[in-house]
Amino acid sequence: MTVGRRWKTAHGTITIAADLCKGCGLCIEFCPKQVLGQSEKFNQKGYHYPEMLTPEACVNCGYCQLICPDFAIWNEREDGENGK
Ligand code: SF4
Ligand code: SF4
Repeated sequence: MTVGRRWKTAHGTITIAADLCKGCGLCIEFCPKQVLGQSEKFNQKGYHYPEMLTPEACVNCGYCQLICPDFAIWNEREDGENGK
């Protein structure tokens, strides 16, 4: 079972399912607010997964969800509009 960790942000939540991640770093690189960073820990597959560093700065744009090739990160906005 894949367990996700969820962070409350200023406009909703971001969930990261660490064990689905393949450590490509795209979400970290392309987040327009640079709120994600690489965990020092490894997931079950042996990859460093992302974690939220500054949740208060996340704008819930949904770009991380859009760009992740493995559906390992997702965005829920409190207004129900889930971005791109
Ligand atoms: S929703 Fe946007 S601001 Fe928030 S972590 Fe994802 S890409 Fe960054
Ligand atoms: S884009 Fe997806 S697979 Fe790549 S590091 Fe981020 S969560 Fe992991």
